[in-house]
Amino acid sequence: MLEVDTVQRQRMTEPDADGYFGDFGGRFVPEPLIGACQEVEAAFRDAWSDNEFRQEFLDVLTHYVGRPSPMTECVNLGAELGLRLFLKREDLNHTGSHKINNVIGQALLAKRMGKTHLIAETGAGQHGVATATAAALMGMECTVYMGEVDMKRQALNVFRMGLLGAKVIPALSGSRTLKDAVNEAMRAWVSEVEHTHYCIGTVMGPHPYPWMVRSFHEIIGCESQRQMMALLGRQPDVAVACVGGGSNAAGLFAGFADHEEVRLVGVEPAGGAAIGRGIPAIVHGMKAHFMQDEVGQVLEAESISAGLDYPGVGPEHSFLSDIGRAEYHPVTDERVLVAFRKLARTEGIIPALESAHAIAWVMDNAAELAGKNVVVNLSGRGDKDVQQVQEMLEAAQNGDES
Ligand SMILES: *Cc1c(COP(=O)(O)O)cnc(C)c1O
Repeated sequence: MLEVDTVQRQRMTEPDADGYFGDFGGRFVPEPLIGACQEVEAAFRDAWSDNEFRQEFLDVLTHYVGRPSPMTECVNLGAELGLRLFLKREDLNHTGSHKINNVIGQALLAKRMGKTHLIAETGAGQHGVATATAAALMGMECTVYMGEVDMKRQALNVFRMGLLGAKVIPALSGSRTLKDAVNEAMRAWVSEVEHTHYCIGTVMGPHPYPWMVRSFHEIIGCESQRQMMALLGRQPDVAVACVGGGSNAAGLFAGFADHEEVRLVGVEPAGGAAIGRGIPAIVHGMKAHFMQDEVGQVLEAESISAGLDYPGVGPEHSFLSDIGRAEYHPVTDERVLVAFRKLARTEGIIPALESAHAIAWVMDNAAELAGKNVVVNLSGRGDKDVQQVQEMLEAAQNGDES
């Protein structure tokens, strides 16, 4: 049977009463949504301290999602890099990524609150598909808001959500991408809050979402921590994860944050480095780092991987960076492609392009990491990215020849 940590943590615990992690977080929403957020917070506090709810959550993770996910040592790539490399296999979860942990948690919570309808925002469509999956499983209605531009780019995921019984509504405002979909989902939530739960897809948004979403992903870190103890008899030296909004990283880090000897590394796309290049701002209901232009307009993130194109980052990552507990580094699209192919060739594992960011950072810093034990959260599988990579490699080849 699965368990979650019962030890009281010192770091990565609850935010303060106003939802702050240090200077970051909070609840910056229009008046009508304050009550809705308070309702979610009260329900989550109640559920998370109820053993029956936790058991139900863990049962679904065991029998539907397929947890615990394995910890795989990459013997070939590790030897080549001169270190020991371990992958936390979130790619083997049902639906192919870590995202399912959070949506199962929130769907169960919504049911407990008596809600019958889930709404979600989605960029590339992955969180939309995950939410539609949970809604189908639990017999709930599901509406997904998606930028009109993203709907064209990710037509297959739009079809997939339809198969799962969800309705996809195009966000037509602004740049018609992810940040506009978040705004429209929040607007829709205001008008139908009585029956509807807003299922946010990463550790962002108004309190309690960053805390709640991280809590549902802590299973990643708890399992990893135990698996590393079983494999090595000690904690790893480094724990690495890619960062879009930061949910898979937060889940992994939670298992190691109290072990001060474990270095925590978040890897951002160079074109979407919210912590590296961003400044604090209040957007989407929270104070956190966002990439902005000189007049404070939020920029579009640009990345090879659609799942990392959120221009901001969850407030707890802003905090962990601020206090120096975690570090955040950028990697370029070019290096991500190298890592994507390398893991496939050496280990027979095709990673999601998002997860390949974390592998790329390890490869590029192998000299410094020599002899160390490194855990990478393999947040998702790469099947969804194979066609895009094929097109990019062919275009690059044609470019070389001309
Ligand atoms: C969505 C996604 C991410 C990015 O989201 P986080 O909240 O930063 O974890 C990373 N990897 C995969 C496979 C994803 O689908």
